[in-house]
Amino acid sequence: MRFARWNGGRIGLVVGDTIRDVTEAAGIDIGEWPPVGPVRMIADFDRRRDAILNAAERASPVPLRDVKLETPIPWPHKLIAIPVNYHAHALEMSSPAISRNAGFFMKSSASLSGAGEPIVLPDLPGREIHHEAELAVIIGKRGRQIAAADALKHVFGYACLLDITVRGKQERTIRKSYDTFTPVGPWITTADEVDNPANLDVRLWVNGEPRQDANTSAMIVGVAETIEMVSAVTTLEPGDIIATGTGEGVGPIAAGDAVRIEIPQVGEMTVRVVQGNGGGNLAIPARV
Ligand code: MN
Repeated sequence: MRFARWNGGRIGLVVGDTIRDVTEAAGIDIGEWPPVGPVRMIADFDRRRDAILNAAERASPVPLRDVKLETPIPWPHKLIAIPVNYHAHALEMSSPAISRNAGFFMKSSASLSGAGEPIVLPDLPGREIHHEAELAVIIGKRGRQIAAADALKHVFGYACLLDITVRGKQERTIRKSYDTFTPVGPWITTADEVDNPANLDVRLWVNGEPRQDANTSAMIVGVAETIEMVSAVTTLEPGDIIATGTGEGVGPIAAGDAVRIEIPQVGEMTVRVVQGNGGGNLAIPARV
C-alpha cells in the first residue's frame, strides 16, 4: 500500500496514478491539532487495515496530478538521521566513515515538508546548501533494544527523503533543521511492497542532470543495524522517521532548481527550490 497525505491533511491510498480518499477509515480528523492522526493510524494499523482497503475500493479515484501532496507524517515523535553512512560520501567529504561509531543525530520535525511543497532556502550569502538523497525508514511498532534480526518487523514502510544541509562547521542539527529542509514522500510505501531495503537504488537529479546514484547495499550501517543502534538508546515509536544517510554526489541547490529523487519500488518526487528570507545564526560566519 502507498499512503499519501494530501489537500490539507487528508489520507489516501495511491493506486496507479490516482489517489483514493481513506481519511475517515484511517481515523484521521483533518482539523486536529497537533496533527498526530497519521502516527495513530500507523500505531493502529493492524486493526484498521481492512477498513482502509474497503474505503479505498469504494472511493472515487482522484488523479494524482490534481492534488497537492503533503508530508505523510507531519508530527512524528522523532526525526532521526544517520551521518556519513556511505563510504563514497565519506571520501568526497574528506570525512572518515564514521557512522558505525558516530551513531545518529536529530533533525527538527518542523523541517518536514512534502512532495508538493517547495524547499525554502534561508538567506545565507556565501554558504552552500546541499541536497542529500536518502531512503527514509518509517517505524511501525514501538521498540527498545531491538535486535537487528528482529528490526525489519518494526518497519511500517519506506519513503524518499531529502536531507537538505547548509555546509559548514556548526552542529548538524542547526544546519539541517530549517523549515522545509526534510522533504519526505511522495508517499509511504508499506514494507511488504519493498523486496529488500538493502538493495534499493537511490538516485537524484537537479534540473534533469544526474547528481547522485547509490544503492543501499553500500550503506555502512544497514537499515536493520540502524534500528538496533538507535533503539539501544531511545525507544522507537510508530511514525518515527529515520533518514538513513546519503551516497556520493551531494552538491549545491539554488532558487529555481527542481530536485528529483527516485527510489524504485518506493517512489519518485520532484521538489522545487525557492528563496526565502532570514538565516539566523548561520548567516554569521562560523568561528569554529
Ligand atoms: Mn544526510
